[in-house]
Amino acid sequence: MYQKIIKESNENKIFQYLFKSKENFVINDIANALNMSFPTVKRVVDILVKKNIIVERDKIGEGVGRKARVYGFNPDFCYSIGIRITSHSFQFILINGYCEIKKEKLYNIELDTSSIVDSLEECINNFIATLNVDEKKHLIGVGIATRGIVNNEKNFVEFSNTDSFPLRSLESIRKKLGVPVLIENESNLAVISESILGLGQKLNHFVCLTLSDSISCSTFQKEQHDSFSFKAGRIHHMNINPDGNLCECGSKGCLGSYISDKALILEFKKFFPEINDFDEIFSEKYLETNFGKLLINNYIKHLAIGIRNLLFFSNPEKLIITGKICKYKNIIKPELLKAIYTPNHIFYRGEDTILFSKFNEQTGILGAAIFPIVDSLF
Ligand SMILES: [Zn+2]
Repeated sequence: MYQKIIKESNENKIFQYLFKSKENFVINDIANALNMSFPTVKRVVDILVKKNIIVERDKIGEGVGRKARVYGFNPDFCYSIGIRITSHSFQFILINGYCEIKKEKLYNIELDTSSIVDSLEECINNFIATLNVDEKKHLIGVGIATRGIVNNEKNFVEFSNTDSFPLRSLESIRKKLGVPVLIENESNLAVISESILGLGQKLNHFVCLTLSDSISCSTFQKEQHDSFSFKAGRIHHMNINPDGNLCECGSKGCLGSYISDKALILEFKKFFPEINDFDEIFSEKYLETNFGKLLINNYIKHLAIGIRNLLFFSNPEKLIITGKICKYKNIIKPELLKAIYTPNHIFYRGEDTILFSKFNEQTGILGAAIFPIVDSLF
């Protein structure tokens, strides 16, 4: 479990407010929004201007009277690198202080946990070589999104049930870069994206269900004074059918063996061998056929079982689905809601509990890049 105790200073409250809103402002805007006095806000704004986190813009006002100074958040005050490890690639992004993606790069690799840290280091060096002087100078950290569980107490990343690597092996990368290198479960990082920039901004308790080649979920819980914690679960191997599909873990009927992107592609390939890519599935060419309809309904049925179990387990305010499937929410959402909320269902909340992330499959990697900013500046 990751727990973030939010610093309770006025400086931090104002920084967080600006980081999330990104709007130009006059001192009174913040004083009103955060219920602080003008002199308090002015003092903090002066500090943030000195740190170059805030920049002064033009003054506004009518006529000859005193005009108010307008300030803006400086998007270039920091940069952060996000990396997503998949079974066949490292995806890299560079974001600025506005959380805008400024650079992207994909490295195709054959993943081998015994050499993962070496290949990661090589790709990081290659990516950093593409940054300009300012981006390097203001680099605040590197966040890595991985499948599996990051065990900080026992110091390892459990990549799959048979594969793990020691956390401390990232230390050499950290030392060479001179900035923090953080690693977290992909779904935990999806929770960060949603809570800072996405659909979870105003929520106290929500669950992210991340659908990619593996399935994971994470629970976000807001605590006192805006502090928060999140915890990932290995829902990929939650059993939904004791005699069901064979999973890579050796068991039968794991949820992931029905609703992972890989599982859906495999099912479609049985009838349409030419399909190679997840996105190809969602074309009329396949979905309008009888087999296509059958396969997608079967996928929706199992996705609904997984979601119902999650809702029963943690009763979240919202359940946010993240992953490539979000691009096709118009196709699956009506049937999915019908399958979750059957007539006379016994859920505490209704259909509006289920949301689809606006970041699609980028939710995790975006969260990876935001993580060092949240970890060190919030
Ligand atoms: Zn399994």
